[in-house]
Amino acid sequence: MSENTYNTIIVGGGIAGLTSAAYLSRSKQKVLLIEKNKECGGLVNSFVRDGFHFDAGVRALEDAGIIFPMLKDLGIQLDVVKSKVSLGIENRILHIENLSSLKQYRDLLKEIFPESEGEIDEVIKIIRTVMKHMDVLYGIENPVFKDLKRDREFIFKKLLPWLPRFIFTVGKINRMNMPVEEYLTTVIKNTSLRDIISQHFFKNTPTFFALSYFSLYLDYFYPKGGVGKLPEVLKNKILENGGEIKTETKIIEVTAGKCLLKDQKNLTYKYDNLIWAADLKTFYKITSTEGFFPGIKTDFEESKNSILKNRGGDSVFSLFLEVDEPVENFGKIANGHFFYTPSKTGLGETHRKDLNSLINDFEKVEKTQILDWLDRFTKLNTYEISIPGLKDPELVPPGKTGMIISFLAEYDLFDKIQKAGWLDEFIAELEKRVLKVISDSVYPMLKDKIIARFSYTPLSIENRVGTSEGAITGWSFQKNMPVINKMQYSDRSVLTPIPSIYQAGQWAYSPAGVPMSILTGKLAADKVLKQTRKFKAGQYPDFK
Ligand SMILES: Cc1cc2nc3c(=O)[nH]c(=O)nc-3n(C[C@H](O)[C@H](O)[C@H](O)COP(=O)(O)OP(=O)(O)OC[C@H]3O[C@@H](n4cnc5c(N)ncnc54)[C@H](O)[C@@H]3O)c2cc1C
Repeated sequence: MSENTYNTIIVGGGIAGLTSAAYLSRSKQKVLLIEKNKECGGLVNSFVRDGFHFDAGVRALEDAGIIFPMLKDLGIQLDVVKSKVSLGIENRILHIENLSSLKQYRDLLKEIFPESEGEIDEVIKIIRTVMKHMDVLYGIENPVFKDLKRDREFIFKKLLPWLPRFIFTVGKINRMNMPVEEYLTTVIKNTSLRDIISQHFFKNTPTFFALSYFSLYLDYFYPKGGVGKLPEVLKNKILENGGEIKTETKIIEVTAGKCLLKDQKNLTYKYDNLIWAADLKTFYKITSTEGFFPGIKTDFEESKNSILKNRGGDSVFSLFLEVDEPVENFGKIANGHFFYTPSKTGLGETHRKDLNSLINDFEKVEKTQILDWLDRFTKLNTYEISIPGLKDPELVPPGKTGMIISFLAEYDLFDKIQKAGWLDEFIAELEKRVLKVISDSVYPMLKDKIIARFSYTPLSIENRVGTSEGAITGWSFQKNMPVINKMQYSDRSVLTPIPSIYQAGQWAYSPAGVPMSILTGKLAADKVLKQTRKFKAGQYPDFK
């Protein structure tokens, strides 16, 4: 093979692309992983500033029966600790220890909303049922990461007894696919209670996914050294297997008929198979199907229309703080992974109707109206607060604390404000308000102990990883999803209309996140290997 010709090229060095590359390089394919940034990892990424370690994307990882089996299967060692979660509403804070913490959560809700006891019992009952389904779903190591040809013990002792329960559970899960906000209106009349339970989920999150979070809180773990250790060990494995990684290389053109990629420096790369593990809108915009059969071209155009008219899901705003206060003092208040709602009132229409009308009438709206909205939004919101030093004390300078405060944020608002020329001012106003709300409530020490602060907006996410609308978990939830969204069909999620091109990662399946990105990365690698075996057996497809 000539220098720039590969069996498989993977575009996108996020967790999905790294997974594909790790598996394909293990099977001795000639593999190239192309990443536009200096580092791999995408939204699974850590960085150091002034001696403080921060996680830029996901704050902790959920195994979901996927990550540990994948690491084991690849022979990768990763030191991890539990990432303990706390939940807080106003001045009440619950540390989630085990399954019985659900009872304490119920009691906490009843203390705050004594008028809604019956509704709380009802919703807790539903969460308990969902947790039982989750036990089935994640009850065994995901079979995709097992060697089913050789591991007969796994097949007969685990997989076969589990399958009927799995099929039964999938049926139940599919019946809980409606948006959680809508579902909760059928159970809870109290709008504040409804908001407190659901407002930190993406808009229209499928009910099952949202209500399964209590199980997921118990599943969170944290790699020693930061979440960025996960992409690091995968990257090392790829190199150890003889795979190649090319960073600071952005693919700007895919000529599918010739199996050619072009980067920003006009260098070209030839592939037998391509796995696209980055933004799918970009893929459809830069790919030409010249030379293919009309049927393939038509399928491609149909997919393209559907992909381009859909939106990425909610994005996130993250405020990073370097604080002159020992990490232990924060540990006395809450665990290092903390979901905190300073007001029991709930966001109501603040992040829906009110925000939409500001965005729709943006040209007519005064700056002061946006700042008034910001006052309400920051007071009523739920925050995900992460303190890496509470998970791994090595991650902060002695006597100090690094903290990340984040919340869901609407890309369009930041985009419009940037175009109107006052983004820096808006970010400063937002940071000021968030700090006031958090220091007036749960962490008073933030009032005068902040050494430095900086933040990432949905626009920073879009710039860094190239995701449409700054999305962090792929598509926004709507009735007609442009990708597979049923677990039983997940195997097909990696197919594109072009036979030698596969897709993986947050855009390939919905709902997504780190485990699903890893799973699709593996599924895409499996498809490539299957195709390669067919080619070797002389079964060449004819699609041109
Ligand atoms: C604040 C935050 C919190 C989160 N919390 C959770 C959570 O609790 N649980 C969970 O499961 N998930 C969570 N996520 C989401 C999760 O991190 C992502 O869904 C997942 O990491 C996506 O991985 P990926 O490989 O599919 O895509 P990405 O991470 O987006 O990787 C794509 C890669 O492709 C590269 N790229 C893009 N275009 C090109 C191009 N043209 N050429 C070359 N390279 C290109 C990008 O630079 C990037 O490295 C969170 C994310 C954030 C930001």
